[in-house]
Amino acid sequence: MQEVILSQEELEERLAYWQEKLRLRDWIITIRIVREKEMDPNRAAEISWTLSKKMASVRILDPIDYPDGLMAMQDMENSLVHELLHLHFAPIHEDAHDREHYEVFEEQAIESITHGLIAVARK
Ligand SMILES: [Zn+2]
Repeated sequence: MQEVILSQEELEERLAYWQEKLRLRDWIITIRIVREKEMDPNRAAEISWTLSKKMASVRILDPIDYPDGLMAMQDMENSLVHELLHLHFAPIHEDAHDREHYEVFEEQAIESITHGLIAVARK
């Protein structure tokens, strides 16, 4: 995988693009590049949301803090698409009886869908 590093402005442009493609137009979503210490450990990105208000904020790890020597290079657009897909799962997520068990399958599904979407988008 190739490294994809985007500026704040480019991320906002990609957010608008993917919000449209993923039919998340009615969500109010902000995106920000943040340092490692502002996020949960060992993450390339994260999202938090308020389902009732359809508001969400995406945080993408600053490349300065992206660890060396990982199998995957940093791909900020991939991270963005991944985090946005969580919004489609949010109603099921909040309703899951065994959330820990459910989250494993949600992550696997999102990883596969993200991979496919990015592959098609870059063809
Ligand atoms: Zn995830």
